Amino acid sequence: MHHEVIPEPATSELTSQLADLVDANQILFHQGILDAFGHVSVRADYDSEKFLLARNLAPALVGESDIQEFNLDGETADSRAVYLERFIHAEIYRARPEVMAVVHSHSPVVVPFSVVDVPLRPVMHMAGFLPQATPVFEIRETLGTGSDLLIRDARSGKALADVLGSDSVALMRGHGAVTAAGSLQAAVYQAVYTEINARTQADALRLGTCTYLTGEERKATAATMATQMGRAWNMWRTQARARNSSPAAG
Ligand code: MN
Repeated sequence: MHHEVIPEPATSELTSQLADLVDANQILFHQGILDAFGHVSVRADYDSEKFLLARNLAPALVGESDIQEFNLDGETADSRAVYLERFIHAEIYRARPEVMAVVHSHSPVVVPFSVVDVPLRPVMHMAGFLPQATPVFEIRETLGTGSDLLIRDARSGKALADVLGSDSVALMRGHGAVTAAGSLQAAVYQAVYTEINARTQADALRLGTCTYLTGEERKATAATMATQMGRAWNMWRTQARARNSSPAAG
């Protein structure tokens, strides 16, 4: 017996990207990477010169109707309020054609590494994507000693993208971090595990001298985890959706 297979209506890529971007916002909030601030974006599937980012709103409150479309100059036709630091995303997408998603966070355990002379380095197999020594963006080199440390224009966004170079993560002195990846799931994974690696490295340094991954270990562990990170995404998404639908979540 054969049952005729009725094809489901094709879900547009935009719809799927919007849903994933909402999930990414929720995951990053529930994992403690974003609080009321910080943001996550994805390059539009339908136009590589466009990216999608929520309007000026706390990530935990973002739904599909809150997503705006931007060009690489950080401009949108949407009249609602925009994130001041949208130029972080615009300039990284401009500089890195292979990057499909960007997270900017004030990830709390990461920030200390942006203000001391100890570089954030990969100490564990889950964080092989980290640079051997994570670069730190010093905004004073672009805006002098009197700025509010925010990336408010294309010029400071480009300076940050220059410091990121071809790396996956850069820190922003006294502010936070940015991570760039070839997929939204990878960017979320990197944002979460940058925080976990920072905590682990800080804990280890309090105990004694720290051993870091070699360049070859970084490559090998990153290649392995690239095949496994969907498991984390599915769990984090399930948790975030459950908390959002629970009355206790308030
Ligand atoms: Mn910020």
